[in-house]
Amino acid sequence: MNDRVSRRRFVRLSGGAAAAASLGAPGLVRAAVDDTRLVARHVNVLIVGAGLSGLMAGRELQRRGVDSFLVLEASNRVGGRTLNMPIGGGHVVEVGGEWIGPGQDSIATLIDELGIGAFDAYYGGDTTYDIEGVISRGLLPDASFSELADFTKVAWQLDRLCKKMPVGEPWRMAGAAELDRMTLGDWLRQHASTSFTPSVFRLITRAVWSGYPERISLLWVLHYLRAAGGLLPVILNEGGAQEQRIVGGSQVISERMATDLGDRVLLGRPALRIEDHAPDRMRVVTPVETFTADRVIVAMAPSDTVRIDFAPALPKPRAELASGWARLPRLPLVKAALLYKTPFWRADGLNGAMQSDRGAVQLVFDNSPDDASMGVLSCFLSVVESPQFADRTTREEGLREELARYFGPKALDATGYVEKDWSTDPWSTGCITPLTPGILTAGGEHLRKPSGRIFWAGTESAKRWCGYMDGAISAGARAANEVHASLKA
Ligand SMILES: Cc1cc2nc3c(=O)[nH]c(=O)nc-3n(C[C@H](O)[C@H](O)[C@H](O)COP(=O)(O)OP(=O)(O)OC[C@H]3O[C@@H](n4cnc5c(N)ncnc54)[C@H](O)[C@@H]3O)c2cc1C
Repeated sequence: MNDRVSRRRFVRLSGGAAAAASLGAPGLVRAAVDDTRLVARHVNVLIVGAGLSGLMAGRELQRRGVDSFLVLEASNRVGGRTLNMPIGGGHVVEVGGEWIGPGQDSIATLIDELGIGAFDAYYGGDTTYDIEGVISRGLLPDASFSELADFTKVAWQLDRLCKKMPVGEPWRMAGAAELDRMTLGDWLRQHASTSFTPSVFRLITRAVWSGYPERISLLWVLHYLRAAGGLLPVILNEGGAQEQRIVGGSQVISERMATDLGDRVLLGRPALRIEDHAPDRMRVVTPVETFTADRVIVAMAPSDTVRIDFAPALPKPRAELASGWARLPRLPLVKAALLYKTPFWRADGLNGAMQSDRGAVQLVFDNSPDDASMGVLSCFLSVVESPQFADRTTREEGLREELARYFGPKALDATGYVEKDWSTDPWSTGCITPLTPGILTAGGEHLRKPSGRIFWAGTESAKRWCGYMDGAISAGARAANEVHASLKA
């Protein structure tokens, strides 16, 4: 804490930060900006957001010898969209970002540097599918030869199309505007010849983008797949993005980075306003202190930046990108875990994974600890699709019953329950984004194009694995390198 802030005043200001955290802050902007008694500190670089991306930006600045920086985090913890919850026995379960897979080199390098291990997620056994109301078990869903052949053909065509895109620059793809006017649903209508194929894509878009094919821009889907290396790396469990888990839970990555950065990470400091201050300085106002800096890195989803008051206003395409992102018709996501004495489904030849195109639960995964000393089934669901699960109590009860449909009556005997409803998080507008037509071609270039002395990080700005933890890390490093180059210049 700055020693010019008296203890009494700190208590009052911290209360302001807490209120900002619970109220979503905008009402406090004017009062904080007008409060000329707020203490100002100057650093070379201010990083706003202590998720993986912001912390990685700090780590990279430090590696490059830039020592004068601070990371401002709105909430009272680091990690953003990664969050560990204790489940007893010294174990945690992740209720945010969790899996990593081959080709995610940024996160692989980082965890190696931090001395954090990874282990294979459990997929030994049959997967359960609930497609078009039919529950089946196996390596693939129960479908006729012609249905499987149709899906394979369409998946291959989509993959081939995405490979025509320059990685990370969808707006430069030939015919980008037209591809961004279409939805994935429009494209599927032109290419699929069974109802099974759109149903499987509905399952995929619910899981990957929290939305439906009829709403999602085709260009956005292609960009996302291209950034991951194609459709298979995204949808495969083994050999794809869901292959491995982080020892100790993914939030430890942020916690370790924050420990290394020490008192440069300030919690409870929501940036309310970012403004040009002097000819060559920026000012960042929080309810606790104000800061000035030569450069600012904003490390969060575009939709989260709409809560910050920028002065002067951001370039129109960047502002519209953020507001378009914030208005997306996404399915608000709950990630919940039911705890069991044992992973009982394994003895029945099941791997605990379930995927559905229209069931109340979108996805289930076996999230048991590596030593299988207890059983954990993690579920993804949206209360918009399942209003019967609108409150936590009915949700816990209803989930047991849903899981019993897939894994038998033993699923009713859960010994515990934890969840995170991301739609109520005051600082995150969610993770997986079903970008609607028009947004990407109108403002996509501004995803990572600096706005004056403001530089953009956050997984959404990544060229590779955007939307994933890996993308958050590479985007943080990229923004730090841009800032470093700009300071030298
Ligand atoms: C349920 C769920 C499941 C997921 N599953 C996976 C998975 O299995 N694998 C995978 O790779 N990825 C997964 N993800 C995505 C992954 O978690 C994110 O891509 C990644 O964590 C994003 O990191 P970030 O730093 O870019 O953004 P964030 O984590 O959102 O960090 C932004 C930070 O900025 C802070 N902030 C916001 N506003 C302000 C402000 N005004 N002032 C100061 N600070 C502010 C926020 O509190 C937050 O800490 C999942 C996400 C969710 C929610």
